Amino acid sequence: MIDIKQLWKDACSCVIGIKGVNAVSYSVWIDSLTPLCVKDNTLILLAPSSNNKITVNRSYKDAIVEALTRIGSMITDVTVIIEEEKNLYESEIKEYSAITQEKPALDVKSQFIARYTFDNFVVGDSNNLAYHAAINVAQSPGVSNNTYLAFNPLFLYGGVGLGKTHLLHSIGNYIADNHPDLKVLYTPTEKLINDYVDAISSNKIVAFRTKYRNVDVLMIDDVQFLQKRVGLQEVVFHIFNDLYQNGKQIVLTSDRPPAEIATLEDRLRSRFEGGLLADIGAPNLDMRIAIIRKKMLLEKIAVNDDVVYYLAEKCDSNIRELEGNLSRVVFYAKLRGLPCPDLETAKEAIQHTTVKQQGVIDSGDIINAACNYFKITKADIIGKKKTKDLAEARMIAIYLITDMLAIPLVSIGQLFGGRDHTTIIHARDKIAAQLKENPQVKRAVEDIKAMLKD
Ligand code: ADP
Ligand code: MG
Repeated sequence: MIDIKQLWKDACSCVIGIKGVNAVSYSVWIDSLTPLCVKDNTLILLAPSSNNKITVNRSYKDAIVEALTRIGSMITDVTVIIEEEKNLYESEIKEYSAITQEKPALDVKSQFIARYTFDNFVVGDSNNLAYHAAINVAQSPGVSNNTYLAFNPLFLYGGVGLGKTHLLHSIGNYIADNHPDLKVLYTPTEKLINDYVDAISSNKIVAFRTKYRNVDVLMIDDVQFLQKRVGLQEVVFHIFNDLYQNGKQIVLTSDRPPAEIATLEDRLRSRFEGGLLADIGAPNLDMRIAIIRKKMLLEKIAVNDDVVYYLAEKCDSNIRELEGNLSRVVFYAKLRGLPCPDLETAKEAIQHTTVKQQGVIDSGDIINAACNYFKITKADIIGKKKTKDLAEARMIAIYLITDMLAIPLVSIGQLFGGRDHTTIIHARDKIAAQLKENPQVKRAVEDIKAMLKD
């Protein structure tokens, strides 16, 4: 019988980077799945909620299947089920239960991506303060003497792809290795929101509080998503106070400083600002070169100096993109049978990323197409007005985005003026139902899809 626990562990270790899975979507949606059994080469996975099941099926299933293929398993498909559906696989689950039973309560280290360490992080002017503050926190988490008090909470902020999540995982990996007795919990805000919604709907708010309160180090990634979450902000405020008063460490990240997070309650904002605020800026040219070299070393890739320089010059504001370009160039060279990519290959590979690829649709395209179809403006479609026509256009655009793209619901909410993810679910389900009975809605959806294909 296959050791599905090991199989799942191996698949998880390589799924990040496949088809839109990043560190955050992994933590929110995939890490929470439990392998139950295998039936006819299909791996059956248990999701903690139906929302989790729907999202994995919609956005991450293909990536999981590809990861299972990459590790050389015989699995050709996955089925995600929830607790109530377990009886469908009763006998298979029984067969596999000897292997799956003993799951460690919380394997601290498994929360953290192994390659996101301090050693693999290139330090320069743009991230010096954030890096040193993070190391300090990792070495002496929550130490409440006067020297360190200023580091609690540590609030890291900066643009997309500049290393915030990498630093949180570095803190986590460091603590797991050096202070194994400490309980560290990392959560993207999206996961916190899902947990909170689940807790409310199943009347388990006390358990929710206990989970986040009962730790030595709490790290919350991307707290800008707490915007407008009044209920959750209140709960976070109390968790924060409890941890802080008990000398526990809190680390937060955001794409902007607390003062710029709209609708953040004042008392929470002042808590966030009460420790050390450290910003991470865009890397300069030398740092970008150093980052590429580091990545080459880690991945054992050989690239000529002129290509390194070209890549570093070409991409100046997002390290994730810089890494993506390097992988792309190496892949292009491989396709051409070159042992080491030359400048010409690099230019060709990168050209495809700077000119938007034909046929690749993003959320902006869908919103524009919906605006053109309904003859309304972008401000209207993402705005607050609830006239029947606008609301319908908005819901159709939301439906199309959920249907055509793999974007987390919370992020879609952000695209539509910071709407709640439950609003997004409502819009999606409403249009999905209307497609069957309302020919006008059906035509609009089909016409907009056709416009996007042109
Ligand atoms: P953010 O959370 O700020 O959006 P991430 O932490 O996800 O960004 O970083 C994006 C990618 O860039 C990751 O693969 C990360 O390892 C890499 N990266 C970011 N900053 C650095 C750095 N200073 N040195 C090396 N790699 C970095
Ligand atoms: Mg991040």
